[in-house]
Amino acid sequence: MTYDAIIIGGGHNGLTTAAYLARAGRKVLVLERRHVLGGAAVTEEVFKGFHFSVCSYVVSLLRPEIIRELDLPSHGLEILPLDGTFTPMPNGDYLWRVNDHAKTRREIARHSRLDAEAYDEYGKAMIEMGRFVRPILGMLPPDPTSLDPRGLKQLLFLLQRFRRLPRGDQYNQVQLMTMSAVDFLDQWFETDVLKATMSASGIIGTFLGVRSPGTAYVLLHHYMGEIDGAFRSWGLARGGTGAISNAIASAARAAGVEIRSQAEVARILIKGNQAQGVVMKNGDEIHARVVASSVDPRLTFMRFIERGQLPDEFVEDVQHYRFRGSSAKVNLALDALPDFTCLPGPGTHLRGAISISPGVDYMERAYDDAKYGRFSRRPYMDIVIPSLTDPRVAPPGKHVMSCFVQYAPYHLKEGTWDDQRETFGDTVINTLAEYAPNIRDIVRHRQVVTPLDLERDWGLSEGNIFQGELTLEQLFFLRPAPGWAQYKTPVRNLYMCGSATHPGGGIMGAPGRNAAMRILAETRA
Ligand SMILES: Cc1cc2nc3c(=O)[nH]c(=O)nc-3n(C[C@H](O)[C@H](O)[C@H](O)COP(=O)(O)OP(=O)(O)OC[C@H]3O[C@@H](n4cnc5c(N)ncnc54)[C@H](O)[C@@H]3O)c2cc1C
Repeated sequence: MTYDAIIIGGGHNGLTTAAYLARAGRKVLVLERRHVLGGAAVTEEVFKGFHFSVCSYVVSLLRPEIIRELDLPSHGLEILPLDGTFTPMPNGDYLWRVNDHAKTRREIARHSRLDAEAYDEYGKAMIEMGRFVRPILGMLPPDPTSLDPRGLKQLLFLLQRFRRLPRGDQYNQVQLMTMSAVDFLDQWFETDVLKATMSASGIIGTFLGVRSPGTAYVLLHHYMGEIDGAFRSWGLARGGTGAISNAIASAARAAGVEIRSQAEVARILIKGNQAQGVVMKNGDEIHARVVASSVDPRLTFMRFIERGQLPDEFVEDVQHYRFRGSSAKVNLALDALPDFTCLPGPGTHLRGAISISPGVDYMERAYDDAKYGRFSRRPYMDIVIPSLTDPRVAPPGKHVMSCFVQYAPYHLKEGTWDDQRETFGDTVINTLAEYAPNIRDIVRHRQVVTPLDLERDWGLSEGNIFQGELTLEQLFFLRPAPGWAQYKTPVRNLYMCGSATHPGGGIMGAPGRNAAMRILAETRA
């Protein structure tokens, strides 16, 4: 049986590529190693009745055009808004920003009047920055070193857009590309807890601290999303993030895609520098005219392809591509809700994100531990309780709590992650107990997902949540390798379509869609 295209990996990007190819009439097969689809956007019933978004947990970046074109709501996608961010503080106070702008302004004014005014300006500036960058998400990133006329035209388009920005926004854009998250925020705000909480999105998935240059861009990456047209808002998928992957899979199947799970690819078949299919772990060969890999470059090029089949220079670039996983998840099944000392009771502050980021020094110290090969003794955490918004993910009266934790460096100086798993889980609970002391009594079950688990079970090399760090030297025309950022590879008819390609990680679907467009433009059915 010969397919037009085989997609390696049934994460949300691989499924997106498959859906677009099939809708254009191609015969497509998706091969997923795990028993369940979704990759890092997955929901699993880890403990009876408790459904965890095991890895990714909130959504914002998913491209509206994908939702529309694949008609994902008719395949079960529903995004529920997540209202605000609550940051408890050790001194008994808190910072609670909500989607209601006037309320947030009053709350910030409680900490600093100047910051309340600056918050408006900052919000406007970031929206402008996001608007500027947004069209880039859907384009083949032009390579400034190439003389390709299409690329030059796109570069000119970007340059013209840049020139049209007001001067202040031009400066902001350059600063965002070069500064640290904290240095950038220092220009606007004085309240420590506000800067700490806002800077947190600058370090997600990177092995950098909030004071490291380059983190301001990651801040922007997390500002580019929208839900139902509401710019930069975040939400929860009903049924967990796996529901997003399942909706895309359903759209793909409706277009004729065949999807196999527990189907592990061992090698890519290459003859005469042309991809011809794959060899499965069980030895079966499956043939196709095109192969698209949604797994990271280390697996794709170092594991699935023999060394002599790729140019040495390219292999070197892939070897230099940095993963350096720094994040972990602790998912909790709870008998009751946490009770925060600074704002007791089950209020609406528990319905949004809860951020353990009480100060800039706290955040930087969390990074200091990681720099020297230890997990943070007091980590930064981004917590959500999805069962408050979507009760079906837990048994009646019970709750699920998702704790995204940084830093958990993949390379530990002492011991292994398998030895350290429970100590790390205890650190997370103890840190949380400093703000919500009842947490120790209400945890019924605990799942600790370490960077090593992310590598072993999800195929994320070194446990990097974005299939490679989102740092400037690995973005745009450099992702995943200089000269090979447009979904193509040195092997003919072998494409890349996952988060390791432009515009990078997050539940976005953009790499998957862009890759499909490239494949359709270059190959015939
Ligand atoms: C802990 C964690 C938290 C995150 N939180 C968020 C969040 O809240 N919001 C957000 O937007 N993003 C978040 N992300 C990032 C986001 O989930 C990912 O960037 C995105 O899901 C990646 O999608 P993908 O399809 O590109 O790749 P993946 O999801 O990595 O899919 C690749 C697939 O390939 C499969 N595979 C691997 N090897 C083989 C093989 N040999 N044969 C066949 N199949 C194979 C894997 O099993 C996997 O299903 C998080 C990620 C993690 C890990």
